[in-house]
Amino acid sequence: MSGGSEMESFKRGRRDVGLIDGYDPLDPMAPIGVRSRALEEPPDTLSLGPLKKIYLIWMVGGSCDGCTVAVAGGTHPRVEHLLAGIIPGLPRVELIHTVVSTEVGPEWTHNLFMAERGELDAPYVITWEGSIMDESIAAATGGYWMGLGEDPATGRQITSLEWLDRLAPGAAAIIAIGTCASWGGIPAAKGNVTNSMGMMDYLGRDYRSAFGVPIVNIPGCSPIGDNYLETAAAALLFLNGLAPLPEFDELGRPAWLFGETVHRHCPRAGYYEEGVFAEEYGDKECLVELGCWGPVVQCNIAERGMVDGHGGCMQVGGICIGCTMPGFPDKFSPIFEKSPGSMLSSTTSKITGGFIRRMRNMTRVDKNMTARWSADGAISSGWARSKTPPKGALKAFHKAYSTVQHSHEGGR
Ligand code: SF4
Ligand code: SF4
Repeated sequence: MSGGSEMESFKRGRRDVGLIDGYDPLDPMAPIGVRSRALEEPPDTLSLGPLKKIYLIWMVGGSCDGCTVAVAGGTHPRVEHLLAGIIPGLPRVELIHTVVSTEVGPEWTHNLFMAERGELDAPYVITWEGSIMDESIAAATGGYWMGLGEDPATGRQITSLEWLDRLAPGAAAIIAIGTCASWGGIPAAKGNVTNSMGMMDYLGRDYRSAFGVPIVNIPGCSPIGDNYLETAAAALLFLNGLAPLPEFDELGRPAWLFGETVHRHCPRAGYYEEGVFAEEYGDKECLVELGCWGPVVQCNIAERGMVDGHGGCMQVGGICIGCTMPGFPDKFSPIFEKSPGSMLSSTTSKITGGFIRRMRNMTRVDKNMTARWSADGAISSGWARSKTPPKGALKAFHKAYSTVQHSHEGGR
């Protein structure tokens, strides 16, 4: 569809005007790449950059669809907000997704043909979910691992990997979502009969998108949906020329999301510091002696939660099994067994933390008394089991502590 007058005449019923490859742009089941041209851009003030819209082509390899489920539940921003184009500075996103798009079969794959021929009316970003399996192994027996549509001219099966080869050079960016797409994940574990690998291993370290961006990795099994959405939004701001490229670490992870260990923000970290550890699932203390790898794993679930700030592994009683890490799962197995390094650290923590915890308990008793109670030698609460303040050595300790605390005020 070219000019506005053609659009108007098309809407008035001249159905022969504006057909794209024989598709009617107003048919709700037409390929997205055709349909989106029939949408008039809203005359609002939200379109700040040069890009009014962008296509997001979501393809899968060896995947369980867990990444899709995680992103569908994201809230910062919501997928719906990206699709509606209501976030200032971000182009409206046209989602071409293997699972949630309404059209199927040839209508769906037509979007990919349009992308390859450069016929989409906006740039496209590829998001890849799942491991990349070595199709040459399957081809040796006449089969394939990951099929994604057929060649309409010959009926030949096209694989997801072939589409990646065809579309990667023209993509504005490639985002690998989940640990499988980022590093290989579970399909690449010991006994990997499909020669599964991550996106970087397949495309190589020299890959750059059409906009000059190396591969972006959002690991996690499943990943936190908001980690993907926030990174995608930041990348779109960059592609739209409104912000610098966000900071990524040496493995292509968003540095602001994966720069800290789980342990540093874990709600149970205080127990670790004081040398108190859970003995079985359901206990409230630190889980390191049950096999938690949090002290060495880079993941932000402890502070972000899983969905809309809620949930997360340690919050709901689970240990960290290292699912965001390139070494997952082999380097974290046997899962649910105590890691060798934790024996040294938890033993040290029991000794030093145990001493600190006892000292803190003594101080806490003093801080639970008003100045009046301390002077009167009596606690007025009818709830207190002991109605008299500490005496003897404990009282002397409190007095000494208070003297040090107020030394700059004259020791009182
Ligand atoms: S549960 Fe894991 S992450 Fe949390 S404090 Fe213990 S070792 Fe650290
Ligand atoms: S805390 Fe560990 S197991 Fe949980 S999501 Fe993060 S890396 Fe994965």
